[in-house]
Amino acid sequence: MRLLQRNLCVIAMSLAVVSSGHAAPLVEPTLHIKPDAGGPGRVALTLDACGGQTDDRILSALVENKIPATIFVTGIWLKRNATAVEIMRAHPDLFELENHGGRHIPAVDTPQKIYGIRSAGSPDAVLAEVESGVAALARTGEPAPKWFRGATAEYSPSAIAMIRKLGFKIAGFSINGDGGSLLGAKETARRIAAAKDGDVIISHINQPTHAAGEGVVQGLLALKARGLTFVRLDDADGVGNHGTTD
Ligand SMILES: [Zn+2]
Repeated sequence: MRLLQRNLCVIAMSLAVVSSGHAAPLVEPTLHIKPDAGGPGRVALTLDACGGQTDDRILSALVENKIPATIFVTGIWLKRNATAVEIMRAHPDLFELENHGGRHIPAVDTPQKIYGIRSAGSPDAVLAEVESGVAALARTGEPAPKWFRGATAEYSPSAIAMIRKLGFKIAGFSINGDGGSLLGAKETARRIAAAKDGDVIISHINQPTHAAGEGVVQGLLALKARGLTFVRLDDADGVGNHGTTD
């Protein structure tokens, strides 16, 4: 159980979300990018940096193979991973840093637990999570974020509306690449390599000891070999459901 809690990020997203009381059901939004009509196809790679460290296998592979990615960082991760942030900032053509919250707290405005993580629990706390993520990014000198992805990628509909009012788009996904970084290398590689034109992949770049990271690299290289191109969220027209982008 402890291992599970440590790695809770976007774990096992097919599992039912445990909610309590009479709150509106939570949603897990999807996101797609505009397909590359006629070409070999394009996909968006999004990597969450929830807390913890940096998976240098993934970071080096992105730099060496010139694969652009959108990195969702928390305030906690930014504080502990200055070297990785420096590498990302040295390659502005590859890395777009976006907001994964100040403290990695789910953007759900009623008190409940999601995959074992306590939700923000109130509108004010959701606001604080979003704004503290913005402030942490500002301290690194990064451009202001335009996208937000909450911890666990689950939201209450009212929190989505609030975050949109603040001016941020909410980043869902269409392929869960690494199952919260808990899948094996083979299954992770298989899922990522199966991406098709217009897909948005989610995986993690903060778990250097997990086998999933190796699979992320293998999957991405397979996509590259197939001729697919990678775009960042800011360079693509992302369309999400549940009012996350419109
Ligand atoms: Zn996360």
